[in-house]
Amino acid sequence: KVRVRFAPSPTGGLHLGGVRTVLYNYLFARQQGGDFVLRIEDTDQSRYVPGAEEYIYECLKWCGLQPDESPQAGGPYAPYRQSERKDLYRQYAEFLVQEGKAYYAFDRPDELDSMRERFKTAENPSPQYDHKVRMQMRNSCSLTFEETERLLADNVPHVIRIRMPENETVTFTDMIRGEVSFHTELVDDKVLLKADGMPTYHLAVVVDDYLMKITHAFRGEEWLPSSPVHVLLWKYLGWEKDMPQWAHLPLILKPDGNGKLSKRDGDRLGFPVFAMNWTVPGTNELTKGFREIGFLPEAFINMLAMLGWNDGTDQELFTLDELVQKFSMDRVHKGGAKFDFEKAKWFNHEWIKKSEVGRLKPEVRKTLEQQGISVNDDVKLETVIALVKERCTFIADFVEQARFFFQTPQQWDLDAIKPKWNEAKQAFFGDVINYLQQQTNWVAADLEHGFKELAAAKQIKPGEVLLPLRIMLVGGKFGPGVFDIAGIIGKEETVKRVSNLLG
Ligand code: GLU
Repeated sequence: KVRVRFAPSPTGGLHLGGVRTVLYNYLFARQQGGDFVLRIEDTDQSRYVPGAEEYIYECLKWCGLQPDESPQAGGPYAPYRQSERKDLYRQYAEFLVQEGKAYYAFDRPDELDSMRERFKTAENPSPQYDHKVRMQMRNSCSLTFEETERLLADNVPHVIRIRMPENETVTFTDMIRGEVSFHTELVDDKVLLKADGMPTYHLAVVVDDYLMKITHAFRGEEWLPSSPVHVLLWKYLGWEKDMPQWAHLPLILKPDGNGKLSKRDGDRLGFPVFAMNWTVPGTNELTKGFREIGFLPEAFINMLAMLGWNDGTDQELFTLDELVQKFSMDRVHKGGAKFDFEKAKWFNHEWIKKSEVGRLKPEVRKTLEQQGISVNDDVKLETVIALVKERCTFIADFVEQARFFFQTPQQWDLDAIKPKWNEAKQAFFGDVINYLQQQTNWVAADLEHGFKELAAAKQIKPGEVLLPLRIMLVGGKFGPGVFDIAGIIGKEETVKRVSNLLG
């Protein structure tokens, strides 16, 4: 059975790349009738950030990408938080030591520093702990068996490192990249178990993917350089035949294609990179999120799906269900995907247009009320949403586009009408008030007809009086059809607004 996992470290808010990894995992699992596991990789306590785990849950919920198994939901392979699995990892590290695939290293921080000093060269300013230096350091490769035993018995602080082979090539098949090879010469002897007994990411990810029966491991391309370590660990632990199929997802690049979109780019480039607002704990540093600037999760997900994948046609708008049906790993691009905020906005605009009024209503109501616009007529709100949604890119745009349906304008764009205002127009609008007051059947199309007839009778071109009418009703040069607006706000309010400006 297909089993995939999203394995974030709780170090901060989830950025675009992280949510896209969740999405591809989710789509693949749903399509294959498999399980989607959320595992919290919190073994690096120094990088743990309070609130980050809760953020992940809330984000997955907002996006509608709920895992089948997680620290919250539980599941057959619980616990799903690595810090709670701490005691499980040591045995595997020690097994590797027995097999000669790993070793105890007793180096103190100052010894590591002086090693770096000694081995650094102009081309290699930060030398790695690898086979070239291994024999010169204090570890169980360079020490005798007895010395090692004594240090262990004396509880001298130590780590366990993988012993990277010299001169081997590690090869595996990536679902996106095909065959990938790494020369072991370039990889250092990564720490597997730290002095505090906690595993490092490298050990924990392999052990847990094995124990949790993960069949496919999708993650960002930034993990590709670590993959030879992981592949060797699968082999050394004797689990090679159960190794998941890897897929390293392409990076999301800055809009100009110049490098990876980083967490800090958002504020600088003028758009969010986080799914939801994120405040760095203990500071007021707020990084804006797509949710808070008014993205619909449907649009956010749709946009992310297309950052690195398409179905081979021109179709760009997909519901989550359609994505589940159409998604395929072999159409995921190898190259990085440039992020384009204008395109992201286009997705949101399209989704607002295509969403049902009932879908938008709760959020629109909330946004309007937050702006002090009270909305007590439900039917009217629905009519307004249907009328203006195609003009809105963000939910927040409903404030400008809908405010005047609920509040009488207090300010008018007078500059737009003043220069061409004259007595004839003043008189005409006086007649308009009379005409409006006589109407018993308040229907937009009739009002338009009547207004135009009146203008014709006064030899005024409708074009010259439509803008003033709009400014009277709306306050500015925007909004849907002016007679539709009159139709919705009603006779009394329309008369009042025309009179307000006529003085
Ligand atoms: N814990 C890693 C991260 O923070 C997971 C990488 C993987 O999926 O193997 O992204």
